Order: sequence, then C-alpha cells, then structure tokens
Amino acid sequence: MAGILFIISAPSGSGKSTLVAQLRSLVEGLEFSISYTTRRSRGSEENGREYHFTDPATFKRMAENGEFLEWAEVFGNYYGTARAALDHARAAGKDLLLDIDVQGAKQVMEKLPEAVSIFVLPPNPEVLQMRLRHRSEAEHMTEEEVIERRLHQARSEVKQMWDYKYALVNDVLDQAVAEMRAIVLYARGVRDGVTALAEGCRTDPKSPRLRAVLKSFGLE
Ligand code: ADP
Ligand code: 5GP
Repeated sequence: MAGILFIISAPSGSGKSTLVAQLRSLVEGLEFSISYTTRRSRGSEENGREYHFTDPATFKRMAENGEFLEWAEVFGNYYGTARAALDHARAAGKDLLLDIDVQGAKQVMEKLPEAVSIFVLPPNPEVLQMRLRHRSEAEHMTEEEVIERRLHQARSEVKQMWDYKYALVNDVLDQAVAEMRAIVLYARGVRDGVTALAEGCRTDPKSPRLRAVLKSFGLE
C-alpha cells in the first residue's frame, strides 16, 4: 500500500517539534525524515537524531548531486530533505513525516501534490514570543536578535497557511496533538478506502441497497 507523505510547517517556536514528538509516540508506522542542516546543534540535540548536522561544503555537494527532494535557506542556514528518506519510506510502505519550512513545503507540494500538508499556528504573536524565549533560555542560548528575526519571519509564514490542506492552532497542547492525530488517521482512512466505505453506509433515503431491502419487506 502506498505510504502517505505528511508535510508539517510552522513558524519557529510554534511547538511543531513538540507536537510531532507526541504524535509519533501515539501513532504507529510514521517515519520521520531527519533533515540535513548547516546550523549548529542546540542544547540536547544529537547528530542523526534531530538533524544530520553537516558543514556547508558537504551540503552544497549533496545539493549539486541532486540528493535533496527539497532544500532551502532558513535564518541564514541551509536545510534539506534527503531523497533517500522518501525512497526508504516508499520501499517500506511507511508513511513519512517532513518537518520543513514554507519554502521547502512549496517545492514538495509542486513535486508531490498528493502530499497531506499541515500548517501549525501559534495562538498569537505574544505567545509565540514567550515560547521562543522559554526555549532559548532552557537551552542557555538567549539571543534577542534571533528571537526578533524569528518573530518577524512568522508574520510572512502565517500568510502562507492557505497553501496547506490543513491548519491547526497549537494553544492547548493535548488538543493540538489530538487534531494532528485525527488528520493522520483520516488521511489513512481515505487512502485505505475506509472513509468511502463508511460513507457508503450512511442512511441515505436514495440508497439503492437500502431501498431494495425496504422493498423486500414490502415497505417501499
Ligand atoms: P518549533 O519546533 O515549532 O520551533 P518547539 O516544539 O521547540 O517549537 O516549541 C517551542 C517551545 O514552546 C518549547 O519550549 C515547547 O516546550 C513549548 N510549547 C510547545 N507547544 C506548547 C503548548 N501547546 N503550550 C505551551 N508551550 C508549548
Ligand atoms: P530549527 O532550526 O528551529 O530546527 O528549524 C528552523 C526551520 O527550518 C523550521 O521551520 C523547520 O521546519 C525548517 N526545516 C527543518 N528541516 C528542514 C528541511 O529539511 N527543509 C526545509 N526546507 N526546512 C527545514
């Protein structure tokens, strides 16, 4: 059975990584594409777990060799999704999750329009600023300039929400996790024909199957 490609984007600090981690602990069979990046690792991040941390020369070589499904420059660093991640998931028949920015998402949507795209919104800019600040304090890397840049960028990213198939607001975490899980299960239901099968059982007065039974009871 064909795997589903899920694209998840959000302004930095909206809680996308937190959501994705919870989603993966709740839903089986979701592979996560570990991106390549030229940015330095943050706090507790480990090479090969959150990202493949790469030097700019290696990244450039990979891009020139066509090894990326998409890549983009985000906040002065390069980020890319390896084609191998998609090939691997496809070969295993697994669903794949991409956590990528709006520029990368656009490239993937053009190449693979059947992908299920989800945009995660913070409730408002004040909450976003608070989350960005808390996170950088927790990682002992508070750089006002970085926070300001990400907040500024958030405004233009939020406008691109309309290019996505789904959008959810990460206000109360559990609610947002439940919504993301529902989107994944719904997409699987559509892919597996379960949704269509259930719809076909609706009590539609025009349903020929139901009418035939009613007729057999002399009720038509
Ligand atoms: P992103 O991956 O979008 O950049 P993170 O997942 O790193 O964001 O979350 C940014 C910060 O916000 C983290 O400190 C995280 O614990 C916190 N956070 C995420 N979701 C929520 C939520 N629903 N309510 C409160 N804090 C949250
Ligand atoms: P961060 O540095 O906070 O981990 O990520 C910054 C931004 O880069 C986020 O919007 C994240 O979704 C995006 N990003 C992470 N990996 C990729 C990738 O492989 N490609 C693209 N285009 N963006 C990515």
